[in-house]
Amino acid sequence: MFAPVVMPICASCGVIAPRMCQACSRCGAAFASRPMTAPRHDAGGYWVGVRCTFQCRSCGFAAPLDQLDVDGSVECAYCGLRQKFEPSTWSEALEFAHAVGDLAGPEPEGRFPDPSVWIGPANPFRDIGETLTFSEFRQSGFEMTDGLTIPKSLQIQAAPGFPVCARCRTTLAVQAASDGRTTTTCSSCGDSATFTLPDRARSFGEALVAVVAQEHRVNRMNATVMAPSDAGVSALVCPNCGAPLTLHGGDRTIRCQFCSAFCRVPGQFLVRSGQEKSTVRRESAASSKAAPERTRLHSRCLRSRGV
Ligand SMILES: [Zn+2]
Ligand SMILES: [Zn+2]
Ligand SMILES: [Zn+2]
Ligand SMILES: [Zn+2]
Repeated sequence: MFAPVVMPICASCGVIAPRMCQACSRCGAAFASRPMTAPRHDAGGYWVGVRCTFQCRSCGFAAPLDQLDVDGSVECAYCGLRQKFEPSTWSEALEFAHAVGDLAGPEPEGRFPDPSVWIGPANPFRDIGETLTFSEFRQSGFEMTDGLTIPKSLQIQAAPGFPVCARCRTTLAVQAASDGRTTTTCSSCGDSATFTLPDRARSFGEALVAVVAQEHRVNRMNATVMAPSDAGVSALVCPNCGAPLTLHGGDRTIRCQFCSAFCRVPGQFLVRSGQEKSTVRRESAASSKAAPERTRLHSRCLRSRGV
């Protein structure tokens, strides 16, 4: 057996804290002298933090994708255009995220070393955890949509990590059930949330077992956007009790102070109020089982050694 890999993570956003870095390259938070570490996952699964964007076909901006969107269309947070998005696009990106979680350093062999399979020199993700936080994947090629040939444009950044409570800067207790429902609980503030993996996403392969992202949180309602006042300011109110909602940074989900309902903030509202940045909040996907990437790299190593 191998010694369990202890992974230091950013207490603020939960992604891996590289050994040679002083601050998180994703959220900017300084690392403490003794960084927080990710708890070991019992079933051998692990979490990968994923940030996604796609290029809007109308305005051309790299629009954030805050969820594992599998309904066949996505909405640009900048111009509001709803556009086709082929769900199978995710397979390639998730495979990449899986490979990052599986093979990321700082151990040269990644998370599941195999004494008979040495891939160190060919491991493309071995610097993650040492000097790098994430690896980037850009889709290339074209696809046919509505009779038009359009470039595939999904871009993802994947980093090993663990879900953390943004408020308390502590790791969450996570329970992932086999039906794709995941419950997280913060032992510090007691906040508990349940997330569901969309059924369609479960067809992407059994490596993807859970998702923790605000967009997948159950029991959320859409916040109501009130018509702009004469001064051109639009307001956001709770759909449950009608109380005004206060935005916190770029948070896509806010809790009503009065009735505690969880409300979803429309992306365009965030853009209009200047809260949305060109990046997305973290989306996490858990996976288990070694990635096929290892097998592929292994055969390449053998070839280069003339075996
Ligand atoms: Zn961070
Ligand atoms: Zn757009
Ligand atoms: Zn908390
Ligand atoms: Zn309310």
